[in-house]
Amino acid sequence: MNLIFLGAPGAGKGTQAENVSEKYNLPAVSTGNMLREAVKNGTEAGLKAKSYMDAGDLVPDEVVIGILKDRIALDDAKKGFILDGFPRTVEQAEALERMGVTIDKVVNIHVSDQRIIDRMSGRRVCADCGASYHIEYKPTSAEGVCDLCKGSVVLRDDDKPETVLARLKTYHEKTAPLIEFYESRGKLRTVEGQIEINDTTRLTFEALEK
Ligand code: ADP
Ligand code: ZN
Repeated sequence: MNLIFLGAPGAGKGTQAENVSEKYNLPAVSTGNMLREAVKNGTEAGLKAKSYMDAGDLVPDEVVIGILKDRIALDDAKKGFILDGFPRTVEQAEALERMGVTIDKVVNIHVSDQRIIDRMSGRRVCADCGASYHIEYKPTSAEGVCDLCKGSVVLRDDDKPETVLARLKTYHEKTAPLIEFYESRGKLRTVEGQIEINDTTRLTFEALEK
């Protein structure tokens, strides 16, 4: 089973992708996490990606598509995978089709812009494993320490308020057209993002059973 999670930055798609990954025992593939890892390790792809990410822009397709292709070729993705943050443009979705990847369902997590802006200020991620948290809605057990790997949990550079607005604009211009793209292919399942993460998780599981 191959799934895609769509949604604005901060809509909670990473969190839901992780939940579904556990329940269905499929790897969650986050291009955002892979790019941050590449930046941290100073790889060629990371060097190319950094300035775009810091500005809230999309990283060029050839960089992201290359990373994604290598990742889904690994053994653990043979039985299926969950894409979080890819595709982010119609061109990327078309590249996926050209690779011969069939997508079963696309979960679109919908949250209003105002709520996105309110939420992002509280978002934190593990600098080591990429797990996502929120100071109010999904706190770590010990402050600043990742529950999963004990790494340090930090505010992402691109979660700063000025970058959040740029990312939202990019989302509406480049990524939102994918809603129509997958709707027309009969794959889209829209989930209304709830205040409580658990409620969104329940709706996400329901949407996948439909
Ligand atoms: P969010 O969904 O919260 O915006 P991500 O962690 O998915 O964050 O992505 C962070 C940044 O990484 C994006 O703002 C963008 O610069 C880059 N990025 C991630 N995935 C892609 C992609 N598929 N195409 C282009 N850029 C990407
Ligand atoms: Zn961690």
